[in-house]
Amino acid sequence: MGAKQGETINFNAGPAKIPEAVMEKAQRELINYAGTGVSILEMSHRCAEFDNVIKGCERLLREEMNIPGDYDVIFMQGGATGQFAAVPMNLAALSRKKVQPCADYAVTGSWSEKAFKEAEKYLNVVKINSPVKPYVSVNDPATWTRDTDAAYLHYCSNETINGIEMREVPETLPGVPIVADVSSNILSRPFDVSKHGIVYGGTQKNLGAAGLTIVVVQKDLIGHENKMTPSVFSYSTMSKNNSIYNTPNCFGIYLTKLVLEWIKETGVNALFDRNETKSTMIYDLIDSSDGFYSRPAGNDVLEKKFLICALARGMIGLKGHRSVGGIRASLYNAVTLEETEVLADYMKEFMADYYDRQ
Ligand code: PMP
Repeated sequence: MGAKQGETINFNAGPAKIPEAVMEKAQRELINYAGTGVSILEMSHRCAEFDNVIKGCERLLREEMNIPGDYDVIFMQGGATGQFAAVPMNLAALSRKKVQPCADYAVTGSWSEKAFKEAEKYLNVVKINSPVKPYVSVNDPATWTRDTDAAYLHYCSNETINGIEMREVPETLPGVPIVADVSSNILSRPFDVSKHGIVYGGTQKNLGAAGLTIVVVQKDLIGHENKMTPSVFSYSTMSKNNSIYNTPNCFGIYLTKLVLEWIKETGVNALFDRNETKSTMIYDLIDSSDGFYSRPAGNDVLEKKFLICALARGMIGLKGHRSVGGIRASLYNAVTLEETEVLADYMKEFMADYYDRQ
């Protein structure tokens, strides 16, 4: 069993599948946006039409993420990787240690490890959770150390490469804001922004195209940036200028607005329920496979075979990240239940064929 004849099922990790209805609307509007005679790709970022787009995008994001009024929404570029640097540049000054500022990092997988390494350029960083490789689980946040002098506590709510999601927001010490990299699970489930100082993520997984970064910042945390901070990474410069200090990713903002309209129509809770059903379907299959499917993955020959046969059935994007290998299925919001069922059926069939030949 596979995708319908000639169709592709996209399990890419990011850039990833965008809802069909969004792609169709973007296609319809591409050449002539709202009767202007020009494309959204061709108009000024300071014209009235684009002003409506960026304001609409922010309004929808505030609505769908329940963003409290004392937070700013900033549209940036540079990806989540840019934020790995922007966060320490903007917040280091909040550390009670003025000479050697410090920050706490929960390192739970490849992305928070990268964030940690980038932050080392700007302040003293501490891995607070005694991480052990390979990253397959997270130890109880109650056992993590915390530093009262830390400028902030950084964690990643979903480790895309390792498949580790933090369901609870870790506790922090009074006066130490929490910063979350939510790149790969933003709006895939209800999430409490108000427990955080900063929430950031790229949009290329659940929210549209690559090249746009969403940064939600508590207003109190704006205006403390280090003097060397590039203007495009300064929360205060970008916020004061409503994210158009320079030319923003206009098309990315437009597309994210369309995705947010789609999310609103479905509802975050309904998406969450569907995502739970999808992931349970795959994880139950892994757990009941008697070790045939394992975490982390480990049989090169079978993995190659799995990927080749999947491709022949129209399923793409199942290869694990190049740093860890194995197989990975990204089941973002736009991936349907039916598409996940096709994958699950294929996994069952593959296991039946190859179980004895491992
Ligand atoms: N953090 C997480 C959790 C990610 O999944 C990714 C990208 N896969 C990044 C950070 C880096 O994002 P970008 O490529 O947009 O810089």
